[in-house]
Amino acid sequence: MKEVRNTNQKEIIKQVIMNNKDHLTGDQIYEMVKEHMPSISRATVFRNLKRLVELDEIGHIEIADGADCFDYRKHDHYHFKCNECHKVFDTSIPYDNGLDTIDPEFKVDHHVTLFYGICPECLKKHNHEIV
Ligand SMILES: [Zn+2]
Ligand SMILES: [Zn+2]
Repeated sequence: MKEVRNTNQKEIIKQVIMNNKDHLTGDQIYEMVKEHMPSISRATVFRNLKRLVELDEIGHIEIADGADCFDYRKHDHYHFKCNECHKVFDTSIPYDNGLDTIDPEFKVDHHVTLFYGICPECLKKHNHEIV
């Protein structure tokens, strides 16, 4: 019985991530999962998130200066973190496999790049302030 319950928890957590189509922190996911499963603990949500990443069912973005995010998109793509609203976005910058072979001493299998700056929404707010 235990196994079935765990599978359901994992599926609900995955569904929350897939339906949201955003880059959510573990705590944001926990709040949303609680709406479906009020008794679930934060530790259980985080344990399932780790498992989903290990199974390669969701993406994981390590954020050095904040909480890690989880991603419904698994394929390699670059992210942008806004210095003002701290949201994480997908960029349209094409993923460059060519970077992986520049240093022949290392066998690179993927790379992670996080861009920092001001997102379009915060830029708009700035423009309003100036006007
Ligand atoms: Zn922003
Ligand atoms: Zn993403």
